[in-house]
Amino acid sequence: MATFLSNPPAPDAKFGSGLPWGNDQKGCEPLNPPQTAEALAMIIITRPDATEDQIEHIVSRIHDWGLRAEVSRGEMRVVIGVIGPEDKIREKPLGAFPGVESVTPVLKPYKLVSYEFRGTPSKVKIGNVVVGGKEVVLMAGPCSVENEDQIITIAQSIRKAGAKILRGGAFKPRTSPYSFQGLGKAGLQLLAEARREAGLPIITEVMDTKDLDLVSEYADCLQIGARNMQNFSLLREVGRTRLPVMLKRGMAASIKDLLMSAEYILSEGNFNVLLCERGIRTFETMTRNTLDLNAVPVLKAETHLPVVVDPTHGIGIRRFVPAMALAAVAAGADSIMIEVHNAPELAKSDGEQCLLPNEFADLVGRIRGVAEAIGREV
Ligand code: PEP
Ligand code: MN
Repeated sequence: MATFLSNPPAPDAKFGSGLPWGNDQKGCEPLNPPQTAEALAMIIITRPDATEDQIEHIVSRIHDWGLRAEVSRGEMRVVIGVIGPEDKIREKPLGAFPGVESVTPVLKPYKLVSYEFRGTPSKVKIGNVVVGGKEVVLMAGPCSVENEDQIITIAQSIRKAGAKILRGGAFKPRTSPYSFQGLGKAGLQLLAEARREAGLPIITEVMDTKDLDLVSEYADCLQIGARNMQNFSLLREVGRTRLPVMLKRGMAASIKDLLMSAEYILSEGNFNVLLCERGIRTFETMTRNTLDLNAVPVLKAETHLPVVVDPTHGIGIRRFVPAMALAAVAAGADSIMIEVHNAPELAKSDGEQCLLPNEFADLVGRIRGVAEAIGREV
């Protein structure tokens, strides 16, 4: 039986039309459909010692590929502009030709996720909650769903404190195969019960394409974890659903890598995507990860997709989580995800970094203060 709160994929939409505007989330319709006109896509700068034969060879190969070449001769070097469809040009090994010093793409490799594609920020609806508007949406809950009492107690306490979305993992990506792996389907059923009790939509992780149908029956928003950010078959599969997807940045992924992974999901027609900064690995050993708050303004400028920050995994130490949550709001995050547990010393995963319910409630008040100071609300 379907257990959606208010965001079930329409039966015919689940594996949808494939058109970006084929989803039913009005906030995410592209305003500026992609331009297909040919444009200057690549600039080749030749070496100062490049010979005329080498330049002719490059130009004739560009013509063989059905592309146009615009040659400008300077005092020291020849610059060749390659004109044509960007996708076709990007895959050509232009840097491999003798006489070439550098090849610079003019256009960005991501299209559907780029800010220019819509020209305005997107809003993504999770259940009845809109992420990407004026409100800074708080998501909270335990790392793992462990039992009925735990998830319902936490769900009720975070709702009272002001959280709008309940998080909890039923399928857990763990570094060790001997660690708790999550309750699987039973965990999803407990989440559904907590959703009924607390009236909050739920976000939960899907780790594998084989579990997607099952997780989609329960989730209001699918989470793709850091370790799966470049699991391209999973990205494509969630792209064929119309469920909101929160894509977490891989721990060794650049901002551009994150955008390219999101592009996979949008390219399958699902525009209901949120990007999540959750910390990257650096040389620093005093924190679990390094929360890259640089990513927030950069993502807000580069993409129309809403940006979530997860300060819990980003710093990994309970007493420092509030400071990074406040900083994330100040940096412009649309949503903050925080791990909360009623008995951290009994937690089956990430006990050391989750806030107690009263600590979370206290933090919400402070987040509200920062949000209001920058013209937003909680
Ligand atoms: C989580 O949210 O509990 C989690 C496992 O996150 P990440 O994929 O960012 O490590
Ligand atoms: Mn966790």
